[in-house]
Amino acid sequence: MGIKHKLMKAFIQRFGVSRVKGLIAKQRSLNEIPGILHPTPNSTTRFEIPLEMMNLLQERDDIEMRHMFPIRRLLSVIKNIHLSVDSISNNPLNPSTNASTDFLEELKEFAQSHGVGVIEFVKLPQDLIFHEFGALYDNAIILAMEMSKEKIDKAASQETMNMVFGTYDDLGKAANRIAEFLREHGYAAQADHPLGGLVLFPPLAQKAGIGWVGKHGLLITPKYGPRVRLAAVYTGIENLPFADSNDHGWIDEYCKICGLCIKQCPPQAILKGNVTHDTGRITNIKQQDCFEYFAQFYGCSICVKACPFSKAGDTYERLKAVTEKKR
Ligand code: SF4
Ligand code: SF4
Repeated sequence: MGIKHKLMKAFIQRFGVSRVKGLIAKQRSLNEIPGILHPTPNSTTRFEIPLEMMNLLQERDDIEMRHMFPIRRLLSVIKNIHLSVDSISNNPLNPSTNASTDFLEELKEFAQSHGVGVIEFVKLPQDLIFHEFGALYDNAIILAMEMSKEKIDKAASQETMNMVFGTYDDLGKAANRIAEFLREHGYAAQADHPLGGLVLFPPLAQKAGIGWVGKHGLLITPKYGPRVRLAAVYTGIENLPFADSNDHGWIDEYCKICGLCIKQCPPQAILKGNVTHDTGRITNIKQQDCFEYFAQFYGCSICVKACPFSKAGDTYERLKAVTEKKR
């Protein structure tokens, strides 16, 4: 192990771990706000990605920080998660709870001007709030931001990792700006960062009708396939046009005839059958196997590259026709 790597490990031990633990404690402290929505016994436990990454760095000499995250973006992510908690105190004392159609159009335009590709509204089920965390409102605005196809096609590589982390960071900033925009217009809001979120985003976005969760555990959207990161803003606005249906359930059938992500996952972390995790969550992913490969090889993303929906264009319609023909 080189001297640079040793110094970096010492730095992470000294400052990184305590900083991330402090951030998690701050997010958990939201639970003390009167009236906050709590998780339920059916909720799952959050996998603390940045903390687990730092633990792995301590344990494994063959893994370096540059394989895991760009430090500048990580610091910005941490800053914006802090802001998402601290800015709650800026909520108006007597917030409005009704928004006009014109204002919602303005809100969508504002979100798009900050790089958000899809924005939808859904009621947040408390089962999707992670254990020990809380959300201020169950009126959720779901945000999806596209990840570059060109960079995903280079997975696994440093370029891909920089883009993926960059998208997390940009979407986290957008969520904070959207929350601020709502406050400026007299509404209460709470931003939820895409990395270290308070709720399980893929099933929430599925409930919002944005797409369908594929075998790789990622949300597949018609426009971008799984090349999206997800975030949310919870608000006191009660008359949002909440989604109550989803047209993408056929993707489940297509996954059964495809299986490309299962075949191409290097550590074979994606299974045909279900995995029930200690957290209570049911997926097709062996989380620890994925995580260690992900940490060692630039955030991996090979399953995103392998997924045919990532091609976008007319892929969604084409694959839907293939699936219907097979019935
Ligand atoms: S990110 Fe990589 S290791 Fe994890 S499930 Fe996808 S392909 Fe497998
Ligand atoms: S690669 Fe195939 S099986 Fe995997 S999520 Fe995409 S469509 Fe489904």
